[in-house]
Amino acid sequence: MRTVRVTGASLTAGGADRVVVEGQFAKSNSPRTEVVITGLPDAVIRESRGRLLCALRETRLQRGGGRFFLNLVPAARPKSGEVLDLPLVLAGAGAVGHLDQEALSGTLFLGEVGIDGALHEVPGGLAAALAARRAGLTSLLAPPRTAREAAFVPGVEVLEATHLSQVIAHLSPQGKKLTPLELPDLEPTAAGTKHLDVVRGQAVAKHALAVAAAGGHGLLMVGPPGAGKTLLARALLDLLPPPSIEERLELAAALSASGRWPGSLPEQRPFRSPHHSTTHAGLVGGGNPLAAGEITLAHHGVLFLDELPEFRREVLEGLRQPLEAGEICLSRAGRQARLPAQFQLVTAMNPCPCGYHGHPRIPCHCAPQAVRRYRQRISGPLLDRIDLRLEIPPTPLEALAPITPSKPSQSEPCAKELLGMVECAHRLRSKRDQTRTNAHLQGNALDRFSPLQGEGRRLLAHAVERRGLSARAVQSLRRVARTLADLEGQERVVANHLAGALALRAPVD
Ligand SMILES: [Zn+2]
Repeated sequence: MRTVRVTGASLTAGGADRVVVEGQFAKSNSPRTEVVITGLPDAVIRESRGRLLCALRETRLQRGGGRFFLNLVPAARPKSGEVLDLPLVLAGAGAVGHLDQEALSGTLFLGEVGIDGALHEVPGGLAAALAARRAGLTSLLAPPRTAREAAFVPGVEVLEATHLSQVIAHLSPQGKKLTPLELPDLEPTAAGTKHLDVVRGQAVAKHALAVAAAGGHGLLMVGPPGAGKTLLARALLDLLPPPSIEERLELAAALSASGRWPGSLPEQRPFRSPHHSTTHAGLVGGGNPLAAGEITLAHHGVLFLDELPEFRREVLEGLRQPLEAGEICLSRAGRQARLPAQFQLVTAMNPCPCGYHGHPRIPCHCAPQAVRRYRQRISGPLLDRIDLRLEIPPTPLEALAPITPSKPSQSEPCAKELLGMVECAHRLRSKRDQTRTNAHLQGNALDRFSPLQGEGRRLLAHAVERRGLSARAVQSLRRVARTLADLEGQERVVANHLAGALALRAPVD
């Protein structure tokens, strides 16, 4: 009995996995034809049996009775959805001898097949094209809209067809060949520094944003309502380098697989700011079926958590593993997904329940215990992963007035200067033999890239005594000091950088 193999894909929460359909056909004397599908198909795939037979008859590929065996590989992983229709039909057509294995190899097929043989669009075109590229396949064939989405992936030739008969013709030696789609324009438009330009005053905060952008450090801002914390969080995006094409493809994969394809590759890094009432599944992903959470939607961008003490503790605990690993592993009812979640964490909170503790003009009415309790609500392990902690002063009255030519603001670092410093820091780091950002430095790597010597060691010892800093806090200060040296274009970390790091660590707990 002849066996053919056709490659397709199954969608997951964060992308697509390659699936191979193995097809065989056993002829029988009975006029009846049946289809058996094995390899953990879901209800939609099982239902495709009827469509498959109709489509094969419609295109005159199958005559006489018998039994189709179609097996989905790998067998242990559940597969779902109508995206496998086309590979199932082609495996059937191959099994009865209408298509050669050679013609079927090297291409990933994707699409729903109607009972008349028409092909219908499915979600996941781009995610499937990435899966095809990972598997070393050179082309992908899908219905038009799905194919247009796939065409954004460089390195995979994409073909589109509207009817099964076109696919069969393309795969037959004498048939009419389909023409590959052109690669769309992938150049992003320049993002600019639109948020940073609007921030008035806040020189320290702007400097801290440059540190965060250069070293990948987490940031906590403590300040009264209206101090501009959200705007500052958004301004971090302005200081991050524009996303590379590969980063944009990774960003788009989760959107593609969940059917939320925006029509072209995202141009900017994402900024996600979930409400404090968000659930664990909403933040890190989960649910049934498994869906990506905010941390995956913030991949390669910024995750902003405003009013940090209001988030439920167990929800925030879910951030620890992805902050360490840059990805999240989800599992539910035998399904597993490993989703990317490499995001930069920016958080903000009021100094007290009413928001005006320490404010120069508005009185605070909170009892001292209430202020302490409020601050202690933030989870310690999460706080450990936030290197930069900043008190954001209320916006001074003069900064609220529009800047006029007669009154230029000279003390503020301009966006261009900050961008230049961040670029310099990235260049310096890329010259070192350092695989991850400064925010991830620990153990030997920290000793090597941010050694503690002489004056710096004395300064830290003094700070430990005076402020009661933990060993974790000292490591955090050394990471930030490395970034401060990078921003100045200096190879060596000196006492000055550690002093700068101490200034960027306000006592909040
Ligand atoms: Zn208060």
